[in-house]
Amino acid sequence: MELNICDECKSEYYVHSSVMSGLCPECAHQLYGYPNCSHIFIDGRCTRCHWNGQTSTYMKRGKGGKEKERVIEN
Ligand SMILES: [Zn+2]
Ligand SMILES: [Zn+2]
Repeated sequence: MELNICDECKSEYYVHSSVMSGLCPECAHQLYGYPNCSHIFIDGRCTRCHWNGQTSTYMKRGKGGKEKERVIEN
């Protein structure tokens, strides 16, 4: 299946799964109110749209700003 990179969250997604060119179904939903994918995550990726489950920093800020402090440390 054909993959594209989302302009907003930089995740790969299946082109056919999104109504918007350049945005994954999640970002199209968050930013423009289009129907979202009913994500089914296996190994960190949605099997339906191939989204990686990571919202962009722009959208994290919009949701209260706490998310950005959650840094993954090794
Ligand atoms: Zn996206
Ligand atoms: Zn999905």
